[in-house]
Amino acid sequence: MTTRKYADIIVAQSAGFCPGVKHAIDQVMALEAAGQKPVYTLGPLIHNKQATTMLEMKDIRAIDKPTEDLDKSGVLVIRAHGITPDFQKEIEAFGMPVFDATCPLVKHAQNIIAKFAVQDYHTVIVGDTEHAEVIGLMGYAKNHYNIVSSLEEAKALPHFEKVHVVSQTTQQESVFYEIAEEVKKHADKCQISNTICQPTKDRQKETIEQAKNADFVIVVGGKHSANTARLAQLCQGLTKHVQHIETDEELDEKLATSAKKVFITAGASTPSWVIDSVVYRVTQLRHPPVRRVVKR
Ligand code: SF4
Repeated sequence: MTTRKYADIIVAQSAGFCPGVKHAIDQVMALEAAGQKPVYTLGPLIHNKQATTMLEMKDIRAIDKPTEDLDKSGVLVIRAHGITPDFQKEIEAFGMPVFDATCPLVKHAQNIIAKFAVQDYHTVIVGDTEHAEVIGLMGYAKNHYNIVSSLEEAKALPHFEKVHVVSQTTQQESVFYEIAEEVKKHADKCQISNTICQPTKDRQKETIEQAKNADFVIVVGGKHSANTARLAQLCQGLTKHVQHIETDEELDEKLATSAKKVFITAGASTPSWVIDSVVYRVTQLRHPPVRRVVKR
């Protein structure tokens, strides 16, 4: 899809797959292309309905855990979010080949948690309790951890002798430091590891800068994608209107047409074709193609 560029429609350079998600998808595609099928991913490879449907058509299926009814000629894939070390041992003992596509930046967070946990530090993870990456990170904390997602929750923490504060890789930096400062007050000794990944920092920085100059921000990505939802949250208060959509069908066409400047960004798990179709739709609405009348 070719779309002309217009000064009143800005598309974020950072929109779409982050390196971790892209690497995981490339690896899974390579396994499928090499005939190593079916490919079973432990949880959806990415939080995006459109991409998941496309993967299922290629015999790449998401499962919660290996069960006896699986076709054992296939392969089990650990997705970019990673898993707990106990779950890793369990799947490695299952009797099927395992491919580990954990993002190296998530691995870094896992390793740093393990490093402080063996020194008897209590771990505080700043993140979303239900998120797969956070569940994986918990497994490295030797059963001494808390997950905190707000300042209020941090205020309710007990006192610790030694505490180590880390972050979900897609957390908002200002929120992380605000919570980390609070946790510090609850401990004799506090170590803070900012494990927010660089691609997330870049995406959030660009979104904040551009949202201030636009009066309609469109955030494209799965409704269950935490990092996409966070982008939409970031824009509230910075611009007049924000809409979080999964596809171009949900677009507020009235706003997309009337806004002076539109900024389009997307989460780390939004495929490029979904972003392109939104950009195309916005462009068509704002700059409809001129019909030429040919006189005979
Ligand atoms: S958001 Fe960051 S840490 Fe998470 S998969 Fe993408 S690059 Fe890796």
